[in-house]
Amino acid sequence: MPRGVIAAFLLLVFVCSVGTGTETCSFPGPPTVVLKDEKRLLQYWEVEDSAKWTSGFLPDSAGYWRFVRFVRSRLDVSEVHRYVSAPDLPTTQDKQNSKLMLSGGIGDLRPIDCLEALLFSVQAQRHPMETQPTEFLALILRRDDEGKGPRLKIWYFTVDQPGIGRPGPITDSAEKDVAAGWKPFLNLHNHNFFFDKTPIVPGAAWPSANDVQVMKNLSFHGLPLERTAVTDGFITSHLRPDELKRLRGADE
Ligand SMILES: [Zn+2]
Repeated sequence: MPRGVIAAFLLLVFVCSVGTGTETCSFPGPPTVVLKDEKRLLQYWEVEDSAKWTSGFLPDSAGYWRFVRFVRSRLDVSEVHRYVSAPDLPTTQDKQNSKLMLSGGIGDLRPIDCLEALLFSVQAQRHPMETQPTEFLALILRRDDEGKGPRLKIWYFTVDQPGIGRPGPITDSAEKDVAAGWKPFLNLHNHNFFFDKTPIVPGAAWPSANDVQVMKNLSFHGLPLERTAVTDGFITSHLRPDELKRLRGADE
């Protein structure tokens, strides 16, 4: 999506995006918590697949909208190109990847959708993302073979730090599900804004070179995910495996 269109779309999304009536963006119930200790949280939802999840309706989440207001009061989030000169891009690979993503020649940059914002909201409700940045990783699986209609299983993992650490608990869980008939669909994680740094460090809405290195080799029961997605809470990138291959990993 061209930058101008993203800017216009973001304006529209954030003027009138909380769903009303039947068009609401929420999970049908609480998650099933599989692991919870001092730092780690692993949980999942199993839901019907529907167009609602990829709609532009965003959740009625106090934590999410507090984050949005905070960021918008300090940065012009429609200025996607600011990332090109972001001072925190640590490596040559990151700089090259960012230019590829922003040129529009690879992947898809689009405003955050319902499911992505819901997952972001889970973390934003647990910690204020604007002052206590933390990351989550979601693995989303699909199946449509049990007579129940198309389903999604949405795994969510965090260690409540600005990084995921060792993702074994979530990847092992997804591996077991895929062995049991689920299909790998999407992985999503977030990149944080750091407002305690000068200048402010914005989170790039696409994979870091380290992410690329890990995700190029990510598969479940031998099957790759259909898409890799990264969000900053406003914009989300989506990459197919062939597009991910065109980005440089930290080891390349
Ligand atoms: Zn990352």
